Amino acid sequence: MVLRIDPDRMRTDFEQLAAMGGTADGGIARTTFSEAHFEARAWFLERGRAAGLETHVDSAANHSLRLPAGDRSARTLLLGSHLDSVRRGGRYDGALGVLCALEVLRAVQDAGLALPVALEAIDFTDEEGTLVGELGSWALTGELSAEILAAPRGGRDLLVSELARVGLTEEGLLAARRDPSTLAGFLELHIEQGPVLERAGTDIGIVTGIIGSSSFQVVFEGDARHAGTTPMEARRDAALGAAGFVLGVRETVTRDFPGCVATVGDIQIEPGSFNVVPGRARLRMECRSLDPEELDALELALAERARAEAATYGLEVELRRVGRWEPAPTDERVRAAIELAAGALGLTTMELPSGAGHDAQALAQVTPSGMIFVPSAGGVSHDPAEHTAWEDCVNGANVLLGAAVDLARSG
Ligand SMILES: [Zn+2]
Repeated sequence: MVLRIDPDRMRTDFEQLAAMGGTADGGIARTTFSEAHFEARAWFLERGRAAGLETHVDSAANHSLRLPAGDRSARTLLLGSHLDSVRRGGRYDGALGVLCALEVLRAVQDAGLALPVALEAIDFTDEEGTLVGELGSWALTGELSAEILAAPRGGRDLLVSELARVGLTEEGLLAARRDPSTLAGFLELHIEQGPVLERAGTDIGIVTGIIGSSSFQVVFEGDARHAGTTPMEARRDAALGAAGFVLGVRETVTRDFPGCVATVGDIQIEPGSFNVVPGRARLRMECRSLDPEELDALELALAERARAEAATYGLEVELRRVGRWEPAPTDERVRAAIELAAGALGLTTMELPSGAGHDAQALAQVTPSGMIFVPSAGGVSHDPAEHTAWEDCVNGANVLLGAAVDLARSG
């Protein structure tokens, strides 16, 4: 018999959760440690208590519900995602994964299934990066370094003041590590946030891995000169280097790195006026790949391209890497469990990489991890218009349930 979740109970939860930080345009404003975020997290624990589940909050403020195994020393299979949102986000990103995890625990409990591992539904702290990004999940792996905390995405001052305000400490963040030998794996259900599943008319995405990324600051240096008196052939125009590089990045990636992406997301020209030849152009560029070695090669190729463009226009160029997130392949056995669970429900599947970062990226470093994607209408995400058909949400929850039970039994 194929186990199923209770779609009405999950729908009630979904509506209640969407009201916390809900905006008039149907979106969600639930940034890390905002009032709405606290409200959602308290609600999550309360829903767990109401179902008779154990609750736990660790020293990185990760919020958990547990369905223990008969043997208290059994390992734990983690299921979850995040309840925080971007400033103007949608109702599905992260929240759906946490709700489905909660629903899976209740469904297993209702069915009276005795599993050899504990199940834990977890809401990770600050996935979206109001402060750091994937903060709780990296803390749990023990790979959150003092270096990351020294230069967090939201700025060091904000991190320090927010931790103090909510009663957390950096020591606590670092102490939230869980011994990997106590974990049986991690499963995260998430909306795709892209158009692939919808376009293919496929029910379930099995994530092959979470793409890694490198980001760079690129500065072209030329000479700022009078725009009227400097002949065209006598110029060292930094804007030309920038323009050539933008086109060159596209050409390099599409020609030599199929499946990878690279983007110049910001250009600042100095001094920035009508009548001065640009003397300096500052660009911010990032590139992404699913494979660590390919990411290395892509970094080198783009650096080479920047130097070639600089040479063409008689400029100096300087590249500085400002960040790198390693690609995180998912676990083969976890992918097989997802495939099997979807098949048992008569759902169609396809394998695809995740172009966005997720908590599973962190967990994959220490325990067998996998991700289930459900379709995003129009591929829209990080926007109030974010939407996933309810049937797809229910399908995803049932796949999560089937895969979790399979992994728990074999794990
Ligand atoms: Zn998310």
